[in-house]
Amino acid sequence: MNDPHAAAARWIRPEIRALRAYHVAHAEGMVKLDSMENPYTWPPELMEAWRERLKEVHVNRYPNARADALRTRLRQVMDIPAEAEVLLGNGSDELIQIVAMALAGPGRVLLSPEPSFAMYSMTATFVGMEHVAVPLRAEDFSLDLAAMRAHFERHRPAVVFLAYPNNPTGNRFDPRQVREILAMAPGLVVVDEAYAPFAAHSFLPEVLEHDNLVVMRTLSKMGLAGLRLGYLVGAGAWLEEFDKVRMPYNVNTLSQVSADFALVHKAVFDEQADRIRAERGRLIGALERMNSVTPYPSEANFVLVRTAPGLADQAFEGLKRRGILVKNLNGSSPALADCLRLTVGSAEENDAVLAALSEALAG
Ligand SMILES: *Cc1c(COP(=O)(O)O)cnc(C)c1O
Repeated sequence: MNDPHAAAARWIRPEIRALRAYHVAHAEGMVKLDSMENPYTWPPELMEAWRERLKEVHVNRYPNARADALRTRLRQVMDIPAEAEVLLGNGSDELIQIVAMALAGPGRVLLSPEPSFAMYSMTATFVGMEHVAVPLRAEDFSLDLAAMRAHFERHRPAVVFLAYPNNPTGNRFDPRQVREILAMAPGLVVVDEAYAPFAAHSFLPEVLEHDNLVVMRTLSKMGLAGLRLGYLVGAGAWLEEFDKVRMPYNVNTLSQVSADFALVHKAVFDEQADRIRAERGRLIGALERMNSVTPYPSEANFVLVRTAPGLADQAFEGLKRRGILVKNLNGSSPALADCLRLTVGSAEENDAVLAALSEALAG
């Protein structure tokens, strides 16, 4: 009797069996505008210097468990308040998991607005927390403070995740409303600033002014998605507890050394972010002039667009046939009916997506 299906069905938790694994689209040979990667490569001399630096790495040894050099570098280049602590994760995805593991328990709730980053609700399920989703306002995806307050009173969430700017809508919430949420929330509030390089405001400078705020960042969207490095900033009282849940060698040596090297040359990435922001403006302008699509404002490196009713699937498939991969959000949430998310690419990639989109919408 060899029946792994029956055995797995008996023992895997029902809420895990009900999940679908995080979907990563097949992108071989495509113009990849589905996951907010930076389109630009490094100058050749920088590439060469990086390879030289990697020659010094000894992979027979375990990594520096606390990644001291890298954390010091991050403090310098990211203007982290001197009294704040820094915790590193294997991407900010791992930091979400660390925070959730530390706060999980019977009846504990993780709350986030909806639509927002899919990993918040998935991680809640992984760690056995209840996830509560509070709808954003339909007109402009802003926070609905009255609804948030009602859900805080009803569910007493242990933790609230706010993506600032929000993914997949692209808008940045009103900072005064975020401060109201900080005052109202019974538990921890994680402000997830994955798109900080493209945004006009950050909560990092005031992270220690609230006893329940931690700020999460990542190097992924600024151009180092392959390294998997996220960082959490906040009071030692929170971060020392989270550090106990972290796996000892969660950031590998190649990532530590490479991120440290890249951050010495942060000006290169700042200049790329400038270009991406300029391209974002150009892309939104062109989308505004196009028939049958409406772009939403964005402070991130992507643009949410809504097609005329019923056209999103056709547009998505038409783009795919023309070799361009974007994210189809139609059907993922009622608020995102007819919506696509376009990562801002290089000038050529953006020209290509604009041309293909008008063709695809024309049928
Ligand atoms: C992309 C993204 C992340 C994940 O970033 P990694 O550091 O690559 O794990 C976290 N939060 C939001 C809102 C994101 O869009």
